[in-house]
Amino acid sequence: MKTIGLIGGMSWESSILYYEMINKEVRKRRGGLHSAPCLMYSFDFEPVKQLQHEGKWDEAASLLIEAAQQLETAGADFIVLCTNTMHKAAEKIESSIHIPFLHIADATAEAITHERIKKVGLLATQFTMEESFYKGRLQDKYNLEVVVPDEEERKLVHSIIYDELCRGEIKDSSKKQYTKVIENLIENGAEAIILGCTEITLLIKEEDCRVPVFDTTFLHAVTAVEYALEDCDIVSKK
Ligand code: GLU
Repeated sequence: MKTIGLIGGMSWESSILYYEMINKEVRKRRGGLHSAPCLMYSFDFEPVKQLQHEGKWDEAASLLIEAAQQLETAGADFIVLCTNTMHKAAEKIESSIHIPFLHIADATAEAITHERIKKVGLLATQFTMEESFYKGRLQDKYNLEVVVPDEEERKLVHSIIYDELCRGEIKDSSKKQYTKVIENLIENGAEAIILGCTEITLLIKEEDCRVPVFDTTFLHAVTAVEYALEDCDIVSKK
């Protein structure tokens, strides 16, 4: 089994989910007491969040590159960056290491295209909803049409992520607001919804939505397990 190098802490509320999902998936596939060999570099999120919101993306990217290189040196066989937003630095990270980088948008888009869905609604941080580093990949590489909420709704979705979900606060009132935004995306033609921020799965579940939901945290975690197990004989033991 390959060793997974996780870049986490953005926020740790979602890194916990990755750790749990990855280990549960390995247990499901391999049985016994199998679990995932992995290393995690977990950031202090506050300074990273500051850099993002001050537009200092190069500085933020340098931090992530250093983390990826340290994971490589420590023995990771590939890198999983446990946040959608920081995939803004994906190309820079990829070109600074000698091991594979599993892109979260690829893991997500492959699941969506498998269901033959063409038009998706995206819920994420404003960076992810408004810039091209993520939507562009879905559109150009996978031919998906991506709809995002209007400006006011994008601000709301963004502030709930940073002010609540990244602090572990799950509020019914925010869930209601998110489901309203989701309804508007569906009215604008979305056939499915991407939970394009690794904390949204704490708030929105499949049953909250009348169209299919693609949870980037889960899809990225499962893709990591599939890749880690690629050359393994899967012998399921009780
Ligand atoms: N974890 C979130 C994401 O998937 C947001 C936190 C961050 O800015 O990294 O985008």
